Amino acid sequence: MSEKYISIAIDGPSGVGKTSIAKKIAREKGYLYIDTGAMFRALSVYFLGRGIKAEDEEAIGRSLKDVHLDIRYEDRTQHMIVNGEDVTSKLRTEAVSRAASVISQFRTVRSRLLEMQRELAASADTVMDGRDIGTVVLPNATLKIFLTARPKVRAERRYKQLLELGQLDGATLESITKDIEERDYRDSHREIAPLKAADDAVIIDTSDISIEEVEAAILRALQNKINS
Ligand code: C5P
Repeated sequence: MSEKYISIAIDGPSGVGKTSIAKKIAREKGYLYIDTGAMFRALSVYFLGRGIKAEDEEAIGRSLKDVHLDIRYEDRTQHMIVNGEDVTSKLRTEAVSRAASVISQFRTVRSRLLEMQRELAASADTVMDGRDIGTVVLPNATLKIFLTARPKVRAERRYKQLLELGQLDGATLESITKDIEERDYRDSHREIAPLKAADDAVIIDTSDISIEEVEAAILRALQNKINS
């Protein structure tokens, strides 16, 4: 169904630069950018706000039916709406990052979001980023990219980002590094849709190259796919 439109799947671990790169490609090509991590984060905002622990799979499964999740685009920027409330400004805290990584292990949570992700890709040319886009969500994506970078580089990038947003909340480079390592472990060891490169993904290590170089490599790979 989604093959009517072009789709670029960009997967990789936390802090690898997926979002910045996916946004750049989407802008360059005029495609819709879909941040799937923001969907897990928006659900986390809802659960945390209700005092439900991210680890409490049963309570999360039960209250999922009370959550109405919407995605809206304003000036091509994705907004997450939970039961009518725009929670976009609450998505990037460390508490929400951690909770999103925990709840993303649960089958009920993943299947709820999977449906939404596939519908979006079936509605427009898209660049979608996440952990399982090339392997599970869009196995027939036009182009699959898997980004990697050394954990230390990723932690430094995340630290800088939080600092700029004024959302460090007492986090240090050490605590962020530890958190990234824990999330990497959970994301790549979970039973359902673990983080891994699809067999047909183009793998790019972003540790020592600029965002422009990554973008150019992806645009070249896309051109090759479209021409082939
Ligand atoms: O990409 P981002 O850091 O915003 O994602 C938040 C969390 O959501 C990740 O740590 C990961 O556990 C989860 N996630 C996922 N599958 C996706 C996107 C995000 O499991 N497609």
